[in-house]
Amino acid sequence: MTERTIFHQIRDKEIPADIVYEDDDVLVFKDIHPKAPTHLLLIAKSEEDFVPSITDLTDETEHVPQMLIRKAQQLAKDHGIDGYKLTFHVGRGGGQEVFYLHLHMMSQETFS
Ligand code: 5GP
Repeated sequence: MTERTIFHQIRDKEIPADIVYEDDDVLVFKDIHPKAPTHLLLIAKSEEDFVPSITDLTDETEHVPQMLIRKAQQLAKDHGIDGYKLTFHVGRGGGQEVFYLHLHMMSQETFS
């Protein structure tokens, strides 16, 4: 069985997070240690879409990063953010600490 991470607990509302967007497929919440005025984390919600890391992507889950990137694009449009940075940390050597695939969305502009 795959180990449950802190993001599983946030997804399942077992621990609180500052959630800024949610639909059937994606959950978006503020990073607890923001490295920019806007620092959001985007994760896929469905168990079928669960992937620990980019390293683990398969034919069945290759749509997940694209889905997260498109959601970031939509959020930026909806919230008037012109410029932002999107990052996947991959593996411990890439600085990944939480092994639940997530997209960092950071901006010097404020999200409201
Ligand atoms: P990684 O280094 O794995 O790509 O990024 C994990 C991110 O999750 C880090 O930026 C860290 O600050 C954030 N984080 C870790 N634990 C929590 C938590 O319990 N709540 C929230 N909102 N963010 C967290």
